[in-house]
Amino acid sequence: MNNNRITAKDKLVAFLKKYGYIFALAILTIVMTIIISVSVTKPQDINEPVDNEPVSFYMPVVNATIEKGFSDTELKFNETLNQWEAHKAVDFKVADKTEVYAVLDGKVIDVQTNYLKGTTVIIEHSNNIKTVYSSLAEDVSVKKGDTVKRGALIGKASNTANSELKTGAHLHFEVLENDVAVDPANYLNIEEK
Ligand SMILES: [Zn+2]
Repeated sequence: MNNNRITAKDKLVAFLKKYGYIFALAILTIVMTIIISVSVTKPQDINEPVDNEPVSFYMPVVNATIEKGFSDTELKFNETLNQWEAHKAVDFKVADKTEVYAVLDGKVIDVQTNYLKGTTVIIEHSNNIKTVYSSLAEDVSVKKGDTVKRGALIGKASNTANSELKTGAHLHFEVLENDVAVDPANYLNIEEK
């Protein structure tokens, strides 16, 4: 009699014989999904770019003509001073009182006025870059210590730089990398006239 009794164990065995492959397939599918997702996402995590975005400046002025480009070893003639000199900046000739904007996020580290360069704003950015905006009208829009965003109004171009008086209203714009002047054209899409 005992031999003919169908036990719970027999039922389970019968059930697994009939449907066991479905469980096996389900487990196999789950395992394969995990393997595939790990192998797809892992290289991306490792190769995630950290900080290789090229630095691109906001244009400091619009509707400008490049009056004088950057020169380091090759000298350029300064009509105002009647002499040949290096010009480690770019002069953007603009209408008087044209708005001047910060090219990157940064902090204003100085606002100064001197006879040769006129009113000047100096902004410090990350990556050891500083930008210098000279020949501004004296009523600038920022003060030393201000934090500025890329594209923020910092002042207006004028003709306060006596060393470049004959250029008229313009922005004399310098870029410093580790305090060494470099060609602003490295950061701006500009062409000398
Ligand atoms: Zn200049």
